[in-house]
Amino acid sequence: MRITKWPEIFESSLHILNSLQDAGFKAYFVGGSVRDYLLNLPVHDVDIATSAYPEEIKKIFPQTIDTGIQHGTVTVMDHGTSYELTTFRTESGYQDYRRPDKVTFVRSLKEDLQRRDFTINALAIAPDGEIIDEYEGLADLDNHVIRAVGRAQDRFTEDALRMMRAVRFQSQLDFEIETNTLTAIRENAELLKKISIERINTEFTKMLLGKNWQRGFEQFLKTGLALNCPEFSNQSQNLEKMLSLKNTRITSARSLWALVCQLLNIKDTRRFLTIWKESNQIKDDVQKINFLTVDIENSNYDVWDFYQIGEKYFADLVNVCDVRKIEIDTSQIKQIYATLPITNKKDLAINGDILLKELKIAPGPKLGKILLDIEKQVVYGKLENEKSELIKYCRKNYEVC
Ligand code: ATP
Ligand code: MG
Repeated sequence: MRITKWPEIFESSLHILNSLQDAGFKAYFVGGSVRDYLLNLPVHDVDIATSAYPEEIKKIFPQTIDTGIQHGTVTVMDHGTSYELTTFRTESGYQDYRRPDKVTFVRSLKEDLQRRDFTINALAIAPDGEIIDEYEGLADLDNHVIRAVGRAQDRFTEDALRMMRAVRFQSQLDFEIETNTLTAIRENAELLKKISIERINTEFTKMLLGKNWQRGFEQFLKTGLALNCPEFSNQSQNLEKMLSLKNTRITSARSLWALVCQLLNIKDTRRFLTIWKESNQIKDDVQKINFLTVDIENSNYDVWDFYQIGEKYFADLVNVCDVRKIEIDTSQIKQIYATLPITNKKDLAINGDILLKELKIAPGPKLGKILLDIEKQVVYGKLENEKSELIKYCRKNYEVC
C-alpha cells in the first residue's frame, strides 16, 4: 500500500526525511500519526524515526536540541519549526515493570517497530509513501482490533502502563481488545501498582475523554485495572455506576474529574485529586462544578450561586448533568447569566476605599460584612448598582456617618 497524495502535516515534514535519506540513512513517519492518518482522524504532530544515531542527526541538521538524547530523541529546528526525531531502538531489562534498563540504538526499522505496544501503533510510512506493516497492523486497523505486538504477556510485564493504553485506545477508537491481549491484561492488572500515578492519570484521562468512554471504562473495570488505581480499590459498586450513565462525550478534564468525584461520592475532593496528582486549578474547578451540580439536582439554586461561580463553568456543568441524566434548564441558567447586573465584585459602583472616605468605616470585619451585603443586594437586583444609591442603603441599614 502506498500513499499517493500526502496530507499537509506529513508533506511539510517530508524534507526532514529526505535530508536523512540523502545522507544515507533511513527515515519514516511512525506511531500515532500514521495510525490516525489511516483512520482518517486529525493528525496533530508527527513522529519521525530514523536509522541515524543522535550524533549523526546532529551532523546533518545545524540546529538541534537534545530532547532525550539517551533515548535517542533529538529535536531538529528548521525555519522556526521543530521536528522530533527518534533513532530506531530496542529496549531491554524492564526489571521494574515500567522502564527499560537498557536502550540500544539499531539500524533496523523492524526491530524498532517490535518494541512498540500495539500493532496499530507499529506502522510506518516511508518517504516514497510506502506503508510498512511488519506486524499486521493494517489488518487490525481494518478490523478495529487492539493487539499487542508479539506476546502480550511479555509486553505488559515489560511496561505495565501499556495495559492502560489498551483501554484508552479502546475508548478513543472504539476498537475491540484482541482476546490474548485482553487475557494478558487480566492476568497482569496488578502490575499497574508499579506505575507512577502521573502516567496512569494521563491514560485514564484520555480514556474518559474518548469517543466511546464507557467501552474502555468497562474493560478498565472488568480486567481489574481499576482496582489497582489509587482510591478505587473499595469503590467497585460506585465505579460500576459509571456504566449506567449516558455514554455521551465528556468534554473536559474539569467535567471528567467532577463526574468521577460525584459518582464515587468523594467528600474530600482536594485530597482525592492530590493523590491523583491533579493541578490546583482542577481542584478548584471541581469544587465549583460539584457545588452547582448538587444545587441543580436539588432544584435549589439561585442567582447568587451562579454569580459566585461564574459563567466559565457553565459548559462543564451542562456536560456533567447531561452525562448523569440530571435535568437542567440550560436556557434558564443562560438567562440568569445574561441578566446578572454585575459579574464580579470589581464591577460594584463602590468599594472599600469609597466606603472608608464617605462613611468613615474603618477597614475590618464590619466593612467586609457591609460590602458583601451590598454585593448580594445588587446581584439579586434589589439595589441598583449606582454609587449614591448604595451609599444611601448603607446609611439606612448600618450605623455609619
Ligand atoms: P497519542 O495520539 O495519544 O499521542 P500515540 O500512540 O501517538 O497516541 P505516544 O505516547 O505519542 O502515543 O507514543 C508514540 C508511539 O510510541 C506510539 O504510537 C507507540 O508506537 C510508541 N509507544 C508509546 N508508548 C509506548 C509504550 N508504553 N510501550 C510501547 N510503545 C509505546
Ligand atoms: Mg503521539
